Amino acid sequence: MNGIEKQPDAWQPLEEAVPADLFRVEVRAWAARIGVEPGEIHIRPMKRKWASCSSRGRLTFDIGLLRQPAYQRAEVIVHELLHLKLPNHGPLFRALMQAYLSGKETPIYPNHGAASHFPMQDTP
Ligand SMILES: [Zn+2]
Repeated sequence: MNGIEKQPDAWQPLEEAVPADLFRVEVRAWAARIGVEPGEIHIRPMKRKWASCSSRGRLTFDIGLLRQPAYQRAEVIVHELLHLKLPNHGPLFRALMQAYLSGKETPIYPNHGAASHFPMQDTP
């Protein structure tokens, strides 16, 4: 299992959540762009992680993400989808994160370099 540890209080929730269906559309759109085929996409409360990815490609996202800003949702989505290509957080993983999420230079996960912005940009 790969996942993204939650950092309590690091992210400020939005007042209004996006619908789960819209979130799934975001996941599918990013998957098409990255060139991966996720299996099932689950959205449910998770205690310690924003998301996780099973070895069989099943993605689970914390329902709290629906209340996060778009660029933070994108960061978690891209992170998990990249795990369908790469199991670890090595240099290639970090390079791809930055390629897909070039934009704001605010580090959210120190391991993963630049944060994302949204809407999606064409990969440089
Ligand atoms: Zn990861």
